[in-house]
Amino acid sequence: MPVYDYHCTDCHKTFEQALTLHQHDSNRVRCPHCGSKNIEQEAAAFYAVTSKKSA
Ligand SMILES: [Zn+2]
Repeated sequence: MPVYDYHCTDCHKTFEQALTLHQHDSNRVRCPHCGSKNIEQEAAAFYAVTSKKSA
């Protein structure tokens, strides 16, 4: 299950949510700190993972 990073624009905290693609698409994520829906998804580091290093 992919993990997404979010930033709450109300309490200015960041948090991670493990979501299925369906949950992610349905946009049901809320801030676990204040319950706000005013959140922004941060850049998905999940996709930046590489198995090879071309140093
Ligand atoms: Zn919040």
